[in-house]
Amino acid sequence: MKDSLLIKPVMDETYPVAVKGAGVYIYDDTGKKYLDGSSGAVTASIGHANPEIINTIYTQAQKVSFVYRSQFTSDPAEQLALKLNEMINTDTNYWSFFVNSGSEATETAMKIAIQYWQEQGNYRKNKLLSRWVSYHGITIGALSMSGHVTRRERFIPLLEEYPSVSAPYCYRCPFQKTYPSCQLACAHELETAIHRVGADHIAAFIAEPIVGAAGGVIVPPDGYYQQIKKICDQYHILFIADEVMTGIGRTGKMFGIDHWNVKPDIIALGKGMSAGYTPIAAAIASDKVMKPILDGSKSIMSGHTYSANPQSAAVALAVLEFIETNKLVEKSHEKGLYLLKKLNDLKKQYPMIGDIRGKGLMIGVEFVDNQESKQPFARQMNITNQVVKIAKEKGLLIYPAQAGKDGIHGDAIIIAPPFIISNKEINELVRLFEETLLEVQSG
Ligand code: PMP
Repeated sequence: MKDSLLIKPVMDETYPVAVKGAGVYIYDDTGKKYLDGSSGAVTASIGHANPEIINTIYTQAQKVSFVYRSQFTSDPAEQLALKLNEMINTDTNYWSFFVNSGSEATETAMKIAIQYWQEQGNYRKNKLLSRWVSYHGITIGALSMSGHVTRRERFIPLLEEYPSVSAPYCYRCPFQKTYPSCQLACAHELETAIHRVGADHIAAFIAEPIVGAAGGVIVPPDGYYQQIKKICDQYHILFIADEVMTGIGRTGKMFGIDHWNVKPDIIALGKGMSAGYTPIAAAIASDKVMKPILDGSKSIMSGHTYSANPQSAAVALAVLEFIETNKLVEKSHEKGLYLLKKLNDLKKQYPMIGDIRGKGLMIGVEFVDNQESKQPFARQMNITNQVVKIAKEKGLLIYPAQAGKDGIHGDAIIIAPPFIISNKEINELVRLFEETLLEVQSG
């Protein structure tokens, strides 16, 4: 019998066995302590082993853990939908459909967009547009929307070619221009893509307000999303904001798109929604999108066994309440500024840091072989993996973020600790990161 039959991302590596979480730390079975500098996969935003959430898990389990969505609704699921609508905070209502992962959320968003047009008798508008680079999830539909070479390449025959618009990547502008004289060429490229495919065929455009896993935190310039929304409206194309990573306070505002005052037609949420305490995610559609669906087929054609699971919904609700009561969105903003400043100080001393960017506690660090020319490191050097691995050895968890092999995007990582992190813990994070850079640079 083998020691382990668990399929892990890398099978030849010795994995630490996590046995305990406490605040911003995770402990393995040898007693080694890790500072969770990335909240796992930008997920554990309120930290580990929060007593209030543990209590909610216990209390809800005593009432009911599972009901099937086509037989019952439940209080926690109903309340969660109302809470999310309140947090979106606009005059139209937003309706929630609960799923279990970010990939399911974006794929459900895609299906809702297609159904929206079908209900109005329009069966031709069934394609999506998205950006290169981007990441919207690992299932085939979500991957079709994702501009991520490494995750796509094995499945290309099964995938649609939805990524057709450049990401607003000012550090390496795809048009070799500079903001603001560029006049937002990257936003206007959406119009070109629409003309190429034909607006009659396009149901929706999907974008992460700030690109995460595929690009190492790509923040668009001001005016970008206002322009994108204008183009979408002009050509009758729905705008889907993939807030799976940016949502629920991660960027220092409740939703990433709030930085640009744009209201999407559909929102995909995941990760921080339950802060990792249970798998739950959501596709959230505005009144405008839901009206023809409710008037027509009455509901959406999608769903999973665990959709709107009361146990998960109760946990998500408790997480949202905890974030609100403890003003953690504001904390994400404040702590983000402190961390950003400390990281920018490092940039002066470490030539391998090319760019530091982000909002709130979602900060990307892009590495370069030459700070001035922005020349990326050779792919074979696997700098991202080296940094992540050495940091982990030193007891710091950070998140690798590179779409790989597309020849444009360099090595990058994401630093995204829980919002409850103290300044002292941020200092420790930066110290461990600095020690990591020293070792990589000297190595
Ligand atoms: N969209 C975005 C923006 C993401 O960052 C991710 C996960 N990194 C997903 C979708 C997919 O979420 P999941 O891994 O929960 O399926």
